[in-house]
Amino acid sequence: MAAVTLTNVVKRFGVFEVVHGANIDIADGEFVVFVGPSGCGKSTLLRMIAGLEDISGGDIAIGGKVMNDVEAADRGIAMVFQSYALYPHMTVEQNLSFGLRMNGNPKADTERRVKRAAEILRIDELMQRRPKQLSGGQRQRVAIGRAIVREPQVFLFDEPLSNLDAELRVQMRVEISRLHKELGVTMIYVTHDQTEAMTLADRIVVLKAGNVEQIGAPLDLYDDPANRFVAGFIGSPK
Ligand code: ADP
Ligand code: MG
Repeated sequence: MAAVTLTNVVKRFGVFEVVHGANIDIADGEFVVFVGPSGCGKSTLLRMIAGLEDISGGDIAIGGKVMNDVEAADRGIAMVFQSYALYPHMTVEQNLSFGLRMNGNPKADTERRVKRAAEILRIDELMQRRPKQLSGGQRQRVAIGRAIVREPQVFLFDEPLSNLDAELRVQMRVEISRLHKELGVTMIYVTHDQTEAMTLADRIVVLKAGNVEQIGAPLDLYDDPANRFVAGFIGSPK
């Protein structure tokens, strides 16, 4: 069980408050997209959930357990970033297994996990290549593979497709949807792209300057935006 609950979450950088008491309830297995303009606090929220950034106030619970003081590695979470951050000198297979090997995971289990990730992402044929021999989409698949091998309860994506061209973005969107269905895990996905939000999300969280403006299913936001900002952002005619 890995619902994610944010209760009055505040973030300050020095004297600047950039998240002003966010309340967000994400159900186990849900696909939730955080959307909003650049600088509204999407990455900061994600990094706090991941444990890569301290919170200044409130609580973050994962699977019903408050995680405020739990190390990132122990939160059952994996994060995929916009930059692929693959190790250039390693093969795809080594990139996938590296983290597990460093953690002393048993060899046979590591091999099983890497094989499974490669099958799910259809990169079996690429295992002996190095990152520079891959296309942008293939690199992003490997980056997602590195998250899959950790077998997390929750996946976090921070604008994972923004470095890809338009056609690839559409393809990868379909892939990520399929992944969500196949793995059945909770996914939180950050983007500033309305189309991505509308097509991927079970529910969308619309953010503006550190505030949650509205949370709802894509069509509900479209049909019944809480205010003009949401309407404008979602592209609804209201
Ligand atoms: P988004 O991902 O929505 O573009 P961010 O979460 O990156 O927004 O940033 C939210 C706000 O917090 C911005 O005003 C940004 O300048 C500020 N911010 C982010 N990280 C830091 C930091 N390490 N130190 C100071 N301010 C930061
Ligand atoms: Mg960001």
